[in-house]
Amino acid sequence: MDSTTLSHLHFVFIPLNAPGHLLPMVDMAKLLAQRKVKVSIVTSTLNSIQFQDSIDKEIRSGSSIQILNVKFPCAEAGLPEGCESIDTLPSMDLLINFNTALDLLQQPLEELLEKQRPVPSCIIADKYIICVAEIANKLNVPIIIFDGTSCFFLLCNHNLLKDKVYEVVSSEEKFLVPKIPHRIELQRSQLPGIFNPGTNLKLNARREKVMEVAEKAHGIVVNSFEELEAEYVKEYQRLTGHNVWCFGPVSLCNRDDMDKSLRSKRNLSYENECVKWLDSWSPKSVIYVCFGSLNRATPEQLIELGIGLEATKRPFIWVLRGAYGREEMEKWLLEDGFEERVKGRGFLIKGWAPQVLILSHSAIGVFVTHCGWNSTLEGICAGVPLVTFPLFAEQFLNEQLVVEVVKIGVRVGAKSVVRLGEEHKSRVQVTRENIMDSIEKVMGEGQEKEDIRERARKYADMARKAMEQGGSSYRNMSLLIDHIVHVKGQQHGQRLELSGRIKAYEE
Ligand code: UDP
Repeated sequence: MDSTTLSHLHFVFIPLNAPGHLLPMVDMAKLLAQRKVKVSIVTSTLNSIQFQDSIDKEIRSGSSIQILNVKFPCAEAGLPEGCESIDTLPSMDLLINFNTALDLLQQPLEELLEKQRPVPSCIIADKYIICVAEIANKLNVPIIIFDGTSCFFLLCNHNLLKDKVYEVVSSEEKFLVPKIPHRIELQRSQLPGIFNPGTNLKLNARREKVMEVAEKAHGIVVNSFEELEAEYVKEYQRLTGHNVWCFGPVSLCNRDDMDKSLRSKRNLSYENECVKWLDSWSPKSVIYVCFGSLNRATPEQLIELGIGLEATKRPFIWVLRGAYGREEMEKWLLEDGFEERVKGRGFLIKGWAPQVLILSHSAIGVFVTHCGWNSTLEGICAGVPLVTFPLFAEQFLNEQLVVEVVKIGVRVGAKSVVRLGEEHKSRVQVTRENIMDSIEKVMGEGQEKEDIRERARKYADMARKAMEQGGSSYRNMSLLIDHIVHVKGQQHGQRLELSGRIKAYEE
């Protein structure tokens, strides 16, 4: 295998327009392009603006990577102009329209990919871009699915759907996740939407379709590393027969501060100020609080969280974003004097935080997270304990992995998922005392606290090693490239020796 053959490989990434899906796929694309293959990322212009500089930097370093823009059909799907990412939707009622827009992408995507040279060797698509199945069929290109979660979740999800134990319990009753290596206890009200399907038939049917497309793919790429969840990777592969390539934590491809700040340039105004502020605090002293790119916590819950943070008397960064109840929060922050009371000690980010940059700062001592999978991994990479505050989707399962399996976090005690469109019904689940107690369990003096911090440091070290040359994630990327070489070889009637090929990708 010579480098000419590699440069004829062309991987096309089609991410979902939502930060929690787009950012890790862009990181993956950058990593793959560093392996001498050609990579394209297909997205809308508005989405690409935020990571264009990061891609330009990769190109300057010698990677063959490009962004291919495709118009996002907002008007055709009944979306306000400019709503090209899920986190910019004025209301989650528009999710159906957003899905329509995703389906309308089929023809423009097909036309765009047909024109590409070298012709695409593989499409790596987000699981929610279901029109990709038709496109791949027509163009005779293998699809690989990006799932966006962990193998721990994939296995639990698979076993729960098979076993259906959740169907015979009431919403608040506890049950054990069947046939997994750890004792994981959950209640139905903590499970993602697929286990509690609502009355929206269109959304329910779409979930089924997502699973069908994944079934037919050549395998899935997962943003995780084997050392974190080895038993779950193996068992999931064994049970489903799917190829699984873990090549994360992909955010580690952002090595220096410049990479970290270019990762998603949505709002630069806080960046310098925030880093300067962090520089003024001693190591491991600052609490970082962020609930990801979407927010489903009610203003009442956020206010309780704020009061808890204030009561810790410790320095904190609190990222307040998301559309739900924004005005009410703003009123409380200003009129009730919270901002004034925590001035100097509390750094509020009302918008987009440079999360990976913040987490890598030595002053960060704990991450209070909603347990989105990316945030969970980014916290693991930072080597700090996590205080887990799950809100929706698979976040309660991610909490279980953090607290029960790898044991690097403590719960605030959130009880059940806040359902989409039902935020107003959600009561305060976590009190100010819960917030203070959980933070104090991992900060300050004491053997138990030191043990949890030590485990967090060890996992960060394992994550870093997995990504280095010779590490498990590095190797898995070689295996993925090899799989595609093999598929292409079969299409052209060639037989190639595996060991020689792997060596070529790693030189
Ligand atoms: N993120 C960020 N700044 C923010 C909020 C989120 O950089 O203010 C990034 C974060 O680093 C992560 C992604 O957005 O990579 C959020 O993904 P996650 O899976 O954690 O949560 P989601 O937003 O999907 O709920």
